[in-house]
Amino acid sequence: MIRLKAYKYRLKPRAEQITQFDQHFGHVRFVKNWAIALKGRYYRRFGKGLSSRRLQDQLVKKKKLANCQWLSDTNSQALLAALMDVETAFKKFFGGAGYPKFKRKYAAWQSFQAPQHVEATKNKIKLPKIGWVDCVMHRDLPEGKIKTCTIKRAPSGKYSISILIEQQVGKVMPCIIEEDKTIGVDVGIKTFAVCSDGGEIKNPRLLDRQLVSLKQAQRGFSRMKKGSKNRSKQKMVVAKLHEKVANARHDFIHKSSYNVAVKNHATTVCIEDLQISNLIRNPKLARHIANCGWGMWANALAYKLAENGKNLIRISPFAPSSKECRKCHNKHTGLKLSDRVFVCPVCNHTEDRDLHASHNIKRFGLQKEFEAAGSVVTVKRSPSSKRVKARGDVKGTDILSSGQSKPPLERDSV
Ligand SMILES: [Zn+2]
Repeated sequence: MIRLKAYKYRLKPRAEQITQFDQHFGHVRFVKNWAIALKGRYYRRFGKGLSSRRLQDQLVKKKKLANCQWLSDTNSQALLAALMDVETAFKKFFGGAGYPKFKRKYAAWQSFQAPQHVEATKNKIKLPKIGWVDCVMHRDLPEGKIKTCTIKRAPSGKYSISILIEQQVGKVMPCIIEEDKTIGVDVGIKTFAVCSDGGEIKNPRLLDRQLVSLKQAQRGFSRMKKGSKNRSKQKMVVAKLHEKVANARHDFIHKSSYNVAVKNHATTVCIEDLQISNLIRNPKLARHIANCGWGMWANALAYKLAENGKNLIRISPFAPSSKECRKCHNKHTGLKLSDRVFVCPVCNHTEDRDLHASHNIKRFGLQKEFEAAGSVVTVKRSPSSKRVKARGDVKGTDILSSGQSKPPLERDSV
C-alpha cells in the first residue's frame, strides 16, 4: 500500500540563500500571474481553454525572450510546478470555485516547489539552483521517494520545507465495529471534547492567553505611519504572536487527537460532521469556534484512525445529539445553549449536557452502521471517502433534505 505523507522542517538559510529564495518566490509568482492572464486572454479570444501542454510551450518561448531571460536563474521545475498550480486553480474554477486570483508580492505567505533533485542529510537539505541549506531535522525523514518539496516563508519571516514522501506501508486490517469498543465524541467550547467513556479534553483557549498582547500589538501597528520602519517591525511582532498561537494549537491538536485515536481502547470513534464555516457565521461565538480548531482536529483524528485500521463514523450535524433524551428518546426542545445539565422533562434522566450528547453521538453512529448498512448518512471511514447521499428513514437522525446550504446559525451542542 502506498501512503503519501508530508514532513515539515524548519529551514535556516544564509543571507545569500534568502536572496535566492526571494528570487524564487518572485519568479514563481511572475509565472503564475502571467499564466492566469494568458489563459484568460486566450479564452476571450478563441472561446476555449489553453491546454497545459501548450501553456508549457509558451513558457519555454517566454524564457527565450530577451526581457525574460532572468527566468532561467530559477529552477525550471519550480516554474513548471507553478503552471500546474494554475491548471489546478482553473480546474477548481470549472468545478464551481472562484476565478484564480493573481498573486500579490506582499502576500503574507510565499512559496515555491522543488519537485526533483532534492537531497536530505542529517542537518542539511540540497535544493536545485540553491545548494545545501541548513535545516533543523527535529525528526528523521523516513525512507521513501520524495514526490515534491514546498519551501515556504511564513509572515514571521521564518522559512520551512515540507517534504512529501511516498512510502510503502503494510496493509492495515480494518477493525470490526463493536459496541463496547465504540466511543462518541462531542466537541464544544467549554470543554474541547467529551468522550462517552467519560474522558475529557480541556479547552486550552490558546488565543485567549495571547489576546491582550495581540490587541496591544495590533493597536500599535495600526497607529504607526504607513511605510515606516517601525510599522514593518511591528508587523513582525504581530505575526510572531499569531504564529505562537498557531504553533500551540497545532501541538495541542496532534497530541489530543493521538490520545483519542491511538491511546484509547476504542476501535471506532463517532463524531459529528460539523460544518465549521456555517457555525462561524455566529458573530458571538466565531472567535471561540475558530480558536478551537475542530476541523483540524477532526482531520488529524481521521488520518490517525485510518493509519491504525480504526473506524471513524461521522454523523449528520443536524442529528439531535444534545436534545434527544438517550433513555426515553423524547426530544427536549426547550434545552438552551446555556443549560449545562440535561434534564429530561419526561423520564427525568439527568446527565451532564456534553456527556449526554457524546452518548447520543455514539448511539446515532452505531444505529446508522448497523441498521442502514451500506447506505448510511455522511459516514466516513477514511479521509478520502466521499459523503453518501442522506437517507431520511434512518432512525435517530433528522436530516434536513432541503435547505442544507443554510443550516441554523446557532447549533445546539456548542
Ligand atoms: Zn427521557
